[in-house]
This record gives sequence, C-alpha cells and structure tokens, in this order.
Amino acid sequence: MRMSKLYLPTLKEEPAEAEIISHKLMLRAGLMRNHASGIYSYLPLGYKVIQKIEKIIRRHMDDSDAQEVLLPILQSSEIWKESKRWDRFGPLMIKFKDRKNREFCLGPTHEEVVTDLLRDEIRSYKDLPLNLYQIQTKVRDEIRPRFGVMRGREFTMKDAYSLDRDDEGLDESYQAMYNAYTNIFVDCGLETRAVEADTGAMGGKDSHEFMVLAESGEDKIAFCTNCEYAANIEKAESLVEKRTVNKEDKLEKIHTPGAATIKELEKFFDLPGEDMIKSVAYQADGEAVLALVRGDDELNEIKLANYLDVDNLEPASEEDIITHFKSSPGFIGPIGSKGVRIIADQRIENMESGITGANEKNYHYRGAKVGRDFEVETYLDLRLVREGDSCPSCSGKLEIKSGIEVGHIFKLGTKYSESMGASYLDENGRDKPVVMGSYGIGVTRLVAAAIEQNHDDYGICWPLAIAPYQIIILQLGNDDAVIDKANEIYQQLESAGLEVLVDDRKERAGVKFNDADLIGIPLRLTVGSRSLEAGVVEAKVRATGQELNFELSSVVKETTELLAKIK
Ligand code: ATP
Ligand code: MG
Repeated sequence: MRMSKLYLPTLKEEPAEAEIISHKLMLRAGLMRNHASGIYSYLPLGYKVIQKIEKIIRRHMDDSDAQEVLLPILQSSEIWKESKRWDRFGPLMIKFKDRKNREFCLGPTHEEVVTDLLRDEIRSYKDLPLNLYQIQTKVRDEIRPRFGVMRGREFTMKDAYSLDRDDEGLDESYQAMYNAYTNIFVDCGLETRAVEADTGAMGGKDSHEFMVLAESGEDKIAFCTNCEYAANIEKAESLVEKRTVNKEDKLEKIHTPGAATIKELEKFFDLPGEDMIKSVAYQADGEAVLALVRGDDELNEIKLANYLDVDNLEPASEEDIITHFKSSPGFIGPIGSKGVRIIADQRIENMESGITGANEKNYHYRGAKVGRDFEVETYLDLRLVREGDSCPSCSGKLEIKSGIEVGHIFKLGTKYSESMGASYLDENGRDKPVVMGSYGIGVTRLVAAAIEQNHDDYGICWPLAIAPYQIIILQLGNDDAVIDKANEIYQQLESAGLEVLVDDRKERAGVKFNDADLIGIPLRLTVGSRSLEAGVVEAKVRATGQELNFELSSVVKETTELLAKIK
C-alpha cells in the first residue's frame, strides 16, 4: 500500500478526551475515530488489525471443531424473558419496540438466541457435541463507556457456545476452548494469564477470564506468590484465619458522638477495626438486606449479589435506612432491626463479640454477640480479599494486580437449556437437558490491550502477527534514484508475499520517521540517497530498536530472514 493513497489521519497532539495510552494512540495513529460515547468507526489501519486478530481466532476455533455462524443482533424479548434475563441485564441492554409494538433488544450476548435456535434442532445424543461461534457486533449500554474501545457500547466479540450431553462432555469442550484461547492470545503476541472468575449474569459454575496485566486495567486480580492460584478479585477467596477478638461479655450501649465511620470508631474506642462489625444496608429487589463484615474488611458486593440471586442490588438510600433501622446512616446495626435479612461474612462467626451500630444516632453497642444479641440468616464469604491475605489453596501470600479482561469462558451447565427447554434423547431414550458452555473474546478490546502491552514513548510497537503491515519503507527525498529503488523494493517484497507500506508522501524525513514510529509497523526500511550510495538499505526493528544494513542485492532475503526472528 502506498501511503500517499492511504487514509491515515494521524494526530500530532494528544487527544484531550483520552485518558489511557491505548486510547490516545488509537486516535493519534489514525486507527479509529469516535462517533458517539463508546461508539467508534474503524479506519483502514485499525480495521486491518481487527481482521488479523479475527483470522487468528478463526483458525484456532476451526481447529477445535467449532463452526462459524452468524446470529441476529436484533433479538426478540420473548427468549430473554424465558431465561429470566430481560430484567437481570437491566439498563445494560438497549431495548425498543418495533412498528407492531413488539419488544426487542440489541444483543449484548447470544446464549438465548443459540438455545432458541438449537432447542428445536437437537433431538438425540447423536447431534451432540456441537460448538457454534460467531464474530459479531455486541451492544451494551455501559454505565461508564471509557478508555476508547476498551469499554465501548458497541464492540466486536467472538462468542462461542458449546452443547454437550453431560458434564464430562462440557469439561472436554471447556478445556478445548481454554486451550484454544491460550493459543489465540499467544499467536496474537499477547501475554495473558487465566484467572478464576465470577460467573455474574451468565450463571453457571466454573469460569475463567484471560487477563492482560496492565496498570490501566479495570479488573483487579489476586495472585498467589507461591502457587498457581489466581482469581479475579470479584471471586477471589482467602484463608479464614480462626481467631477471636474483643472478648467483651456484656452488651453495653455507648454514647459515641460524631463517630460514624470505622475510622472514627477506631479513634473513639482506641481499638482496631477488627474488633468492629461493619453493617452495610442494601435494597435487594425491594427487600432490605444488612450485610455484616468485620470492621477492617471491605464487602464484596458481587459475592453478596450471587448469594441473594436478585435482579437488582442497590445500596440502601438514606430514606430506606431510616425506614428499616429507625436511625441515620453511620449508626445502623443488626441488633433490633426488624424485617431485614441479615447476612454475615464468615469472619464474623469467629468473633467472640464486636462493636456495632445501635440503630440510634450517636450510639454504638460494645460486646455485641451473634446468637445472643442478634441472629444472622447465614455466614458466607462476603469480603474483598486484600494484598497480603493468605492464599486459599496453599496459604502463601496474595498479591493484587490490575488486568484487562480480553476473554471469558463459562461452564453454563443446564441454566439455559432447562429454562428454555433444550433437551435431547439419550441412548436409553430418556429426555435430558443439553449441557452448555459459552466463550467470549473481546476482539476490539484486544486491539487496545495489545497496545497497552506494546508501546513506547514514540508510539505503538505492534506484535508482528497483528500489525496492520509487516514492513514500512521510508522513501526519503525526491531523488529519482531513491523513488525508483523504494518502488522496486516495495514490488519485490510484495511479490514475496510480504505486507508492505511504502511512505511515498511528499513529506519531510522527520515527519516520516515520526509517523512510522507512531503507527508501529514492526520493521522499517529506509531508502535514502546516502544509503543508496553505500549500496545498502537501513533496517530498524520497531520494538527493539535493533538496526541493520541490508545489501541492496539481497534485501528480500535479509528482510524475510529478519522477519522470521521478530515476534
Ligand atoms: P466486563 O467485566 O469488562 O464488563 P464482561 O465480563 O461483562 O466484561 P463478557 O460478557 O464476559 O464481558 O464478554 C466477553 C468479552 O467481551 C470480555 O471478556 C471482554 O473482552 C469483551 N467485552 C465485554 N464488554 C465489553 C465492552 N463494553 N467493550 C469492549 N469489550 C467488551
Ligand atoms: Mg466477563
């Protein structure tokens, strides 16, 4: 491709709207442009990268016997109501009515469509296993679209759905996808780490996310420094140390004027947060819930939401708090609260007694004991793990890092096949629900993640496998000899099957060098009058800065050999 013809609107200035490096570089390198909040147009270079990623994905999906299909983006509300996700997805889903007043949504994911498609087609065990995938636009009306295509409202996803006869079949399909994902990311030149994940609105049991570790990542991952344990913080657990604290025996109401937060209480009582019971009030589908964690712990809302299994979990408003606890926020607690479900973290079970709100302004109880002073519905793991916690599998120490979720795989089990009636007849003629899995890769997010992992102060350093072009030839100056030679090398490399961009624009050398660095083509060849006189072409590897001179007579051979060594 000749750069004089390429639509490549690069920007010199940092775009003000971009916070993270990949977003800045995707705009500056002319890969995409913004249309509306979280919605982008992909320009020629950007779309080439996407197509390269899609090609790698297709190869690995096809190799693992998944078959490509294309499912509708416009989806009828009926199937979503059957699976009970019409409400559960809530405002994340763009919903509308057609001219006949029928409700539709723009597909945020396709479990329902696949189950609906196959429930009438799958008859016997002979039709299984089956794995269908597609690469398509998804629409999610994210609360906070940001970081460019990292969290868009419209984005490209590769999604796959496996259907099996039983759990063993699902385990095999899941493992095949796990392996395919691992290979896809390696082939894209990305370093990822698979971590245990929460299943969220998808439902189901096992789940892993594939994370690109990066400071800008919106996810937090807990890693064990000693063993292989790694989990999204939404899901991560830690060892529950058995210890009892605060052995106050008597329940005492204490005047604590102005002490409403754990910090203020620590100061007031001169005791650590671990002697206190923190009470956090929620509205769960209209029902009042009080979650209790130890004062030094933070509540993990995802764990609470999973236990409650409700469509809507929201922090209680001041009004709700006054209604249910007859007190203002900061002084609420489990003792004497009526009509409220009380759910406690397992560490509370290990507390002999604790300090907690008295449901009266400026008062707290000291010596509050579960079982004697209040009851809890259940104990479960409700806390957010912290750096330095003990690993649940080896008791080593946990470390926390940020990551970008580029892929997510789920064992759905029979959640959709049971709610939507997708079953098959087994060898003995018995009707059984199909066992499903679902597997997603954020294709457009992956572009941004690749840049987060591969850039320097001057621009993008594309991994070779997903670079829009492999080679850029810089034609410096307007000498006929230079123009002819650059052209000749360009033709030769193209004929050798390489992907070449030639900067034949009438621009200054400095502009060409800067643009080449910015757009990050892995190998740069410079053709100028000085190097021609010396009988060479100057080669430079973008990512490592390695510089070489190629003899004019063997440019193609040396380029091909060098490319084979670049990652
Ligand atoms: P997140 O937690 O980041 O919101 P998710 O868990 O809701 O993502 P999945 O339903 O697991 O996303 O979707 C599969 C993949 O699609 C994700 O792993 C991610 O790479 C990508 N993805 C999800 N939401 C977006 C988005 N808003 N913009 C770009 N890519 C996305
Ligand atoms: Mg996910």
